[in-house]
Amino acid sequence: MAKNMLIAGNWKMNGTHADLAGLGAFAGLADRARDGVSVALAVPHTLVFSAAQLSADTSLSIGGEDCHHKESGAHTGCVSAAMLRDAGASFTILGHSERRADQGESDADVHAKAEAALAAGLDIIICVGETESERDAGTAQSVVGTQLAGSVPDCDTARLTIAYEPVWAIGTGRTPTPDDVAAMHDHIRAALVSRFGEAGESVLILYGGSVKAANAEELLHVSNVGGALVGGASLTVADFAPIVEAA
Ligand code: PEP
Repeated sequence: MAKNMLIAGNWKMNGTHADLAGLGAFAGLADRARDGVSVALAVPHTLVFSAAQLSADTSLSIGGEDCHHKESGAHTGCVSAAMLRDAGASFTILGHSERRADQGESDADVHAKAEAALAAGLDIIICVGETESERDAGTAQSVVGTQLAGSVPDCDTARLTIAYEPVWAIGTGRTPTPDDVAAMHDHIRAALVSRFGEAGESVLILYGGSVKAANAEELLHVSNVGGALVGGASLTVADFAPIVEAA
């Protein structure tokens, strides 16, 4: 039986309202995806409202790329989970390695944001992944295990997705071998089952890091891979479509 999958795009700090002219094509992909395949797009805060309006009545889910852990208050430049929800987001990415590196986000920060997002009604995609030096040192699994334990709150697992994104594979064109992806995804599955029991079996674990048309088919069929988190190749429907079609 074909497995359930999520293919999620992450536009990062890219896109203006002009780029939403192409959103109908993304929504069309979501509507035509095979049964069991969900399609989502995380966009910059400035585009969430318009993207959500444009994709209303389609199968495309729109989400944010981060949120603050507080509901409101004196946090200039930040956006709360409730604000994202109000703008029409149904989910948010949290703990992306670019935020962990650029904004110094810790596992505790990601945990607090995740609780805030869930309380506001957003589903969550929590990112974990090792750096190249951690992989070279043989500590990739323990690094990811620590990130999972510290970042993931106790929650309804139906609202939780994990994205395994080796930092050294993001935007570089390099990917781990399918065996390495399988080993890490099996490790994450075991950690989820040990934490959540049987409910941990059905949490989707996305692979992220240089997913593109040429490697999607192979990566999406690896053990315990429940979809993909896609950065660069989600910016145009031409690059994104073959990934959705491979799911
Ligand atoms: C990402 O931004 O989460 C990502 C995986 O980027 P890319 O697909 O460009 O490597």
